[in-house]
Amino acid sequence: MSTTNRQTVSYLNRRFRQVGLEPNKRHGQNFLIDLNLVRMIADTGDIGPADAVLEIGTGTGSLTAMMAEKAGLVVTVEIDEHLHQLAKEELESFGNVRMLLQDALRNKNNLSPAVLAPLLEWVQGSPGRRYKLVANLPYNVATPIISNLLMLDVPPALIAVTIQKELGDRIMAKPSTKDYSALSVWVQAVCDVQMVRVLPPNVFWPAPKVDSAIMRIEPIEERRRAIPDLGFFHTFVRSLFFHRRKFLRSVLVSAFKEQLSKPEVDAVLAGISYFTPTTRAEELSVGQIQELSEAFRQTVKRT
Ligand code: SAM
Repeated sequence: MSTTNRQTVSYLNRRFRQVGLEPNKRHGQNFLIDLNLVRMIADTGDIGPADAVLEIGTGTGSLTAMMAEKAGLVVTVEIDEHLHQLAKEELESFGNVRMLLQDALRNKNNLSPAVLAPLLEWVQGSPGRRYKLVANLPYNVATPIISNLLMLDVPPALIAVTIQKELGDRIMAKPSTKDYSALSVWVQAVCDVQMVRVLPPNVFWPAPKVDSAIMRIEPIEERRRAIPDLGFFHTFVRSLFFHRRKFLRSVLVSAFKEQLSKPEVDAVLAGISYFTPTTRAEELSVGQIQELSEAFRQTVKRT
C-alpha cells in the first residue's frame, strides 16, 4: 500500500483492529495522521544519499518509507513487536531500511549500542557520510534520546524531531524564564535550535492532551570544540539546576563538596565578574555557565 493511504485514521483503526491492538500510551503511541506533516518532518531532516537516518519509533512505517526514498540508509527502531511486524510488511521492498525490534535506550543515560553501531559503521564507510536523527519521537524518552546523542563522540549532523511543545519550549528557553533548565543550557551550548512548526493535538491519532512541535536541532562542531570536557560540562549544568532556586554559591559548595573546600569555591567565584552573593544559576547565560564550568574544571584538575 502507498504511504499516502497508510497514515489515515481509518487505516490505522482498521489495521489495529485486524491485529487486535490498541495504541499503547506507555510507549507514546500517537501517530501523525496528516501526511503533509509527516513530509515536513522528513523535509526538515534535509535527507540525502550520504545520510544514514536514525528513526526511533517506526510505528506503522510511513515516515520510514518517505525517508528511505532519499537516504542512503534508514535504521528504524521499534519497541512494540506488533508494530514492528506490521511495519515490516510495508517496508519489505526497501533495500536500505534496517528494522530493529528493541528499546532504543539501554538505560536512561545510554542509547543502545546495537542502535548506534550501524550508524557509526555507515559514517566510517566513506568520507562525507553522516547520520541524522529524524523521527516522531515517543515523548516519554525524547529527553534522554536527544541529550545522549549530543554527548557522543560522533554526534548526529542534525536532529529533526516531533516532541511535546512544552519540551521544545524548554530546549529553547532563555535565562530568567521558568522554562530555562539544564536541558536548555546543554542543548543551546552545542547546537542551533529552531521550532519549525507547532502541531495541535488533532493531527495525531489518538490525540494527545498537549501541543507538539517539530524541532530542528543542529549540532555545531566549533561549539562542541569550545567545551574542553563535554562530560564535565553536562554534569556541571545538571548540578547547577538541581536546586534552581538556591543561590549559586550554595549550589556549588554542595556540588563540589567532595573535591573543594568552601574557601576554594569562593576563590573560584572571586574570579567570576558577574557573580554576586545573590546570583542564581537560572539568571546566567549559556556563555556565562560555560565560563563558570571551565573555571571549576581547571580548579578541580589542579587539586
Ligand atoms: N513514526 C510513527 C509516526 O510518526 O506515526 C510513530 C511515532 S509514535 C509517536 C512513537 C513510536 O515509538 C511508537 O510506535 C512506540 O511504540 C515507539 N517507542 C516507544 N518507546 C520506544 C523506545 N524506547 N524504543 C523504540 N521505540 C519506542
